[in-house]
Amino acid sequence: MPVLDYHLHLWPHGEQATGPTLEQLAAYCEKATAAGVGEIAVTEHLFRFVQADRLLGGFWDSDPDPALAASMARYWRAHVQADLDTYVEVATAAKDAGLPVVVGLEVDYYPGRMDEVAALLAGYPFDVLLGSVHWLGAWRFDDLGDEVSMAQWSARAVDRAWADYTTAMEELAASGTCDVLAHPDLVKVAGHRPLAPEECWDRLAEAAAASGMAAEVSSAGWRKPVGSAYPDPGLLSRLAARGVPFTTASDAHRLPEVAHRVGDLRALLADAGVTALQAYRRRVPRAVPLEAAVAGP
Ligand SMILES: [Zn+2]
Ligand SMILES: [Zn+2]
Repeated sequence: MPVLDYHLHLWPHGEQATGPTLEQLAAYCEKATAAGVGEIAVTEHLFRFVQADRLLGGFWDSDPDPALAASMARYWRAHVQADLDTYVEVATAAKDAGLPVVVGLEVDYYPGRMDEVAALLAGYPFDVLLGSVHWLGAWRFDDLGDEVSMAQWSARAVDRAWADYTTAMEELAASGTCDVLAHPDLVKVAGHRPLAPEECWDRLAEAAAASGMAAEVSSAGWRKPVGSAYPDPGLLSRLAARGVPFTTASDAHRLPEVAHRVGDLRALLADAGVTALQAYRRRVPRAVPLEAAVAGP
């Protein structure tokens, strides 16, 4: 199989969550296939679904910063719209119709709540679950358009933010809730890096290896202020050295971004000596060869 695009959203942030439709998924598959992608995974955010609101709404109330808590409350309310049952039904129908798509979800880390999250998700036939840390408490450190969130990058020490992010990723991995660590060094998104990131890289690679999870190699970082793919070469090599399997992903939030720079992702992995990717069915992993050739135009 050629490369994967195992991280795709159906609704941009800031837009109403409507559908999905089979036509939308077919268009994603067509774009991906033309770029040499063998299989896609749709992985919408869990927090876009009303089922998550019932379980997790208000989690931000424990953050001691009222401005951050209020910002998160607004963000959450703007995103919780869709029905998880419908999403899974439509994606499953697309898969059953023979489209090269598997059914996934991007799941945030909710400290102390992951058993409840796992119980909710166990009721659905997911193929792959991405685990992500976008937030530390109520701080959305990657929400580049939110002034309240971005001001925190001046208020907090970068070393502290990286250490807290790393701890959250370790806890997420240890929870066993998900299959793939998404954008493993997302904390660099706004361009803030510690002078010595090696300790965090070592901890992240150890956490991935100990959990049995795969790590995602994502082109999304090329579209962000940091201007580099996730993960950095220093983390990628540490993951590869520990035998952690990989997926490739665009993290597209709309059709034009589907399969973004998948050939460049393949080159990053080849440079690190990686020869296979990890695909999933019903959360069972299997290795697929990372081929050198890109099919199509
Ligand atoms: Zn994400
Ligand atoms: Zn995403």
